[in-house]
Amino acid sequence: MAYTFRGGIHVDEHKYTSDCPVETLPEPPVVKISMNQNIGATCIPAVSKGDRVLVGQLIGNVPEGALGCPVHSSVSGTVIAIEDQRVSSGAVESVIVIQNDEKNEVADTVVPYTGSIRDLTPEDITERVRLAGIAGMGGAAFPTYAKINSARGKAEYLIVNCAECEPFITADHRLLLEHPEDVVRGVKILMRAVGAPQAYIAVEDNKLNAVKRLRELCGKDGIISVKVMKTKYPQGDERQLIFALTGRELPAGKLPADAGCVIFNAHTCASVYTAIATGMPSVRRIITLSGDCVATPKNLSVPVGTPASCLISYCGGLTKDPEKIISGGPMMGQAQWDTAMPVKKSTSSILILSADYSKKPSTPAVCIRCGRCIKNCPMHLMPAYIAQFVQLDDMKNAEKYGAMSCVECGSCSYNCPGKVEIVQYIRVAKNYIRTEAARMKQAEADAKKADANK
Ligand code: SF4
Ligand code: SF4
Repeated sequence: MAYTFRGGIHVDEHKYTSDCPVETLPEPPVVKISMNQNIGATCIPAVSKGDRVLVGQLIGNVPEGALGCPVHSSVSGTVIAIEDQRVSSGAVESVIVIQNDEKNEVADTVVPYTGSIRDLTPEDITERVRLAGIAGMGGAAFPTYAKINSARGKAEYLIVNCAECEPFITADHRLLLEHPEDVVRGVKILMRAVGAPQAYIAVEDNKLNAVKRLRELCGKDGIISVKVMKTKYPQGDERQLIFALTGRELPAGKLPADAGCVIFNAHTCASVYTAIATGMPSVRRIITLSGDCVATPKNLSVPVGTPASCLISYCGGLTKDPEKIISGGPMMGQAQWDTAMPVKKSTSSILILSADYSKKPSTPAVCIRCGRCIKNCPMHLMPAYIAQFVQLDDMKNAEKYGAMSCVECGSCSYNCPGKVEIVQYIRVAKNYIRTEAARMKQAEADAKKADANK
């Protein structure tokens, strides 16, 4: 029987590219590499306009003592600008623009490790992962070295998240089919870094064609095993994976390590292996370009910083007028205003959808109290109540009813017959609660300072 969790929904999969082998995108003429590729600090540019850079060369340094990942060039060429630009998250970030000379010359700092992994201490591995600038590639973009440090000595289970439960996206599925060795080698390296005695590779049962080879690679000793999960959304959410595989519940505000687990995305595992084996930092990724507006949807291997427009041209352009452009999946991705946005380390897909896929309700939203959102919520919240409190501007009760525990999966909104934009209301509540908490903290600090100066 496949493993699963309570709640959640079945979404139309639209995985049109699951049989499309990964193609390497021809060299883009220009890449635009943001200095903020992860949760944490924004990097400080380590190059200047006019500098020649090589593939794998460090171009952005993490500020002293801050949480964050260094940034490297994904092409060889010349820095033609360092400027503030709006990126896919909607934020304005410092971006290094590099004119690609298409020579693909590699920096001499890219040195393969030819020894045995057993000769590297957990700290050595973590430092190599940090220097390679690897951040969670499933979308969360949390610095991988920091995740290793937070779980070292605490994790009984290392879980590899291969759920890829959002519709359309097939990048990890293709990685599992085409490079399963890299994923399993990465898992072994990460197990050593974290000190986890056991690993589970969690694959949804819509990717059974990847399971056989993965099982062969894992061997029969049971140290690493492949677990088949029921295809259900949001199976890839960390809390749902932990519950489905271990039966442990992770309370709000706690980390997976508090439940004896650490979770890495499949692409992150493969990147860890690549970084150590070849010395090449995190400068490329596999991405799905899909949606009904794209002439030929594909899975592509692309340099970080490639503008989405290059991917679209390679896939034959657009055949319909787009209504919505999304970076990430349709459930949790971010809407974009044009196709110029560059690919980041955490961009798993770009979707270009027509009005057929992004219909707006023709009648005003109204809650008919059907309770469906409550039944579907994987966090066991009462989304309809929270949305109504927000509409009444009653943020105290929104918080009391658990707004901050919402993982913003959108399962509540997806099946709401009243077309209430529940998750949007909850996001408003979360923003308000966070801002208010920060304001209170600042006020307390100011009051303490004023007392000290009396
Ligand atoms: S699913 Fe929609 S209509 Fe039903 S209770 Fe929730 S908010 Fe109301
Ligand atoms: S309330 Fe939050 S966690 Fe629950 S279904 Fe809605 S978006 Fe998902």
